[in-house]
Amino acid sequence: SPMKLVVTGGAGYVGSVCAARLVEAGHDVTVVDDLSTGHADAVPDGVHFIQGDAADVAQTLLSQGFDGVLHFAAKSLVGESMQDPGLYWRGNVLTSLRLLDAMRTHNTPRLVFSSTAATYGEPDVSPIPETTPTGPTNTYGATKLAIDHAITSYAHAHGIAATSLRYFNVAGAHDGFGERHATETHLIPIVLQVATGDREQVQIFGEDYPTADGTAVRDYIHVTDLADAHLLALEHAREGRHEIYNLGNGTGFSVREVIDACREVTGHDIPAAVAPRRAGDPAVLVASAEKARTDLGWKPVHTDLHGIVTDAWRFTRDRIAQDRRSAPRR
Ligand code: UDP
Repeated sequence: SPMKLVVTGGAGYVGSVCAARLVEAGHDVTVVDDLSTGHADAVPDGVHFIQGDAADVAQTLLSQGFDGVLHFAAKSLVGESMQDPGLYWRGNVLTSLRLLDAMRTHNTPRLVFSSTAATYGEPDVSPIPETTPTGPTNTYGATKLAIDHAITSYAHAHGIAATSLRYFNVAGAHDGFGERHATETHLIPIVLQVATGDREQVQIFGEDYPTADGTAVRDYIHVTDLADAHLLALEHAREGRHEIYNLGNGTGFSVREVIDACREVTGHDIPAAVAPRRAGDPAVLVASAEKARTDLGWKPVHTDLHGIVTDAWRFTRDRIAQDRRSAPRR
């Protein structure tokens, strides 16, 4: 049955795709986003949009009576989190605590939270189940883990039905909604910038990892599949429980395999140069999403790397065409 939902960060990459899927499923969606990193034109049609800080807005908005909150709004650059940790402790942890307090005040029953594989740090198991000890190696991951702990105690004490979804490497695009960060650090959009001519070459961060081709292996999951897990989480959540699920395809691809897939999809040479490892990058991060499959009935369908890159490439080209059309003529 349709729910009345708040989506924080609904102008960002994953949040906008989720908001679009929620609308498609018939839910009544209010997006709250301060547009610090998101884009107003990424907010999907058919939602109510409020520009502002997630916690500030929630204090009053939730008094209207909502069935749940999907909390995407966050700072998510690992490098920045090491240079300016206060930005992450305040922006991620403090904001989330204030949001939880607002939910408690107004008896909002459900929460779905964007957690991350970065909470695990550099585990030596593969694939990674939720029972793996956490041990974040950067401030970003530490703040997400701190929020997960807070959610557990709020859920137990105040009867919230809470779910944390630990994303592995989100990629691809959904129906005109894709990845467009002002500061791009993610592999697939960076490689595609070489194909569009916005970048000369891609750097391969490390070729001496203990993997088949020496480059690091990650689990790339299509953003549409990821969004679907949020809808299932809303349905399956139970009062007073906090469940944590890893979301990935369970298959790893190396940096070189990703670059090769981008070459095939774009038809561009995509020059690549080997560079030193990036600090804190583990060799292999692959999810075991068995728990999500079993408990939520989640089945990722866009699991093929070629297809994921094809969708990201279509989005990238559409954006460029749109920017050309809207650019003033000289
Ligand atoms: N990577 C790379 N060159 C780049 C960006 C990323 O070789 O320009 C590598 C990075 O070291 C990691 C993988 O690509 O092994 C995925 O990185 P990304 O930043 O996309 O996601 P992360 O796994 O760090 O969350």
